[in-house]
Amino acid sequence: MMMEYFEQLEDGLRKAIASGQASPRKIYSLEVARLGKRLYSGTNRVAWCGITAPFDLLGAMGITSCFVEFIGAMLASTGAAGEFIEATEHIGYSSDSCSYHRAVTGAAIKGLMPEPEFLIGTTNPCSGGLAVIENLAAHFKKKLFVLHVPQDESGKNVRYFADQLRDMTAFITDVTGITPDPEKLKMAMTNTNRTRSILAEIYDLARGLPSPVTSKELSNFGIVMALFLGTEEAVNVAEAYRDEFKHRLAAGATGRPKEKFRLLWIQNRIQFKNPIEKLLEDEFGARIVIDELNDITWDPIDLDDIYGGLARRSISIPFNGTIEKRVSHLRKLAKAYQVDGAVNPCNWGCRQGTGARGLIEDGLKEIGVPVLNLEVDCVDSRKFTEGQFRTRLEAFVEMMESRK
Ligand code: SF4
Repeated sequence: MMMEYFEQLEDGLRKAIASGQASPRKIYSLEVARLGKRLYSGTNRVAWCGITAPFDLLGAMGITSCFVEFIGAMLASTGAAGEFIEATEHIGYSSDSCSYHRAVTGAAIKGLMPEPEFLIGTTNPCSGGLAVIENLAAHFKKKLFVLHVPQDESGKNVRYFADQLRDMTAFITDVTGITPDPEKLKMAMTNTNRTRSILAEIYDLARGLPSPVTSKELSNFGIVMALFLGTEEAVNVAEAYRDEFKHRLAAGATGRPKEKFRLLWIQNRIQFKNPIEKLLEDEFGARIVIDELNDITWDPIDLDDIYGGLARRSISIPFNGTIEKRVSHLRKLAKAYQVDGAVNPCNWGCRQGTGARGLIEDGLKEIGVPVLNLEVDCVDSRKFTEGQFRTRLEAFVEMMESRK
């Protein structure tokens, strides 16, 4: 089922791009489809990982790696997540836990997760994700390495984590027999740094008034681009976005005609098909110009200290550490993008989403940015009722209007 889905997706996108209908989002989606195909091909060496694993390092060692939540999101986008979530609940998992993880667990139960060669768990951003990886390791009877991501760079944390990354590399060599080739590693990190620098340009352009970005174009972008780091393809995707945004700004044209209100989207988007972005743009003139995870929080990787650079990068992500640190990052984004409001989907069962909502709301309110907290399951469409969301969005937009 999933292989067929990714094949059809790739085929459709390739044809559209070849017939002159290329767009940055299509070029990006093509890479998503190709990653899906590699994961399900049965011929690639696959590792299931936590979200903050160093995918460029794994790629340089010839491993197709991916965070497990990618599958939860893909099942949601195909509209099929419900049956997998049910399969998980059926064997006793709580319906209060994150549905990315219930969907992935259901996929494993139903034989839809490709067998990995090994697994890399990460303690960040959530212990639920680590539990899924541990369950998958037991399910497939495969070896697991856990990366304990320190909360900040204080003391000897960077060295401690860099050493863990070295240990992880030795673990992979032990399991697969592959030793990292220093030249391939440097090449991958050079591509990572090239991509990083173009991403910084994209985000800079997106700050424009009006922004050249449409609400949909950069959804899930930052988190998924991490999977392509280290490759030429990541550079190509990033260049496509940068060039298109430059073109729009130079031509005086924005992605969409109206930009009455600029919005910051907190955490991840809703993964199943839903009318929220369209509703925001078409009916309320509100555009999502920035997502929390669409930001560069790390320095270029020093080729003479690759493990140190990768360690700093993992530690730097906004979901790592205290909520105070996260709020401060959100405030920085809200100011830089001059937003009128923020939307927090508060994904059901998520510490990051629901656990931090009060402090996020207060922190943004202090700088004059109101927050709309939605109570939504971002993966399970069965709980979604459009009417209810429309009413909440309408009230929020009216409130933003009254502040203008
Ligand atoms: S939504 Fe929250 S609980 Fe679920 S994977 Fe993301 S961070 Fe973890």
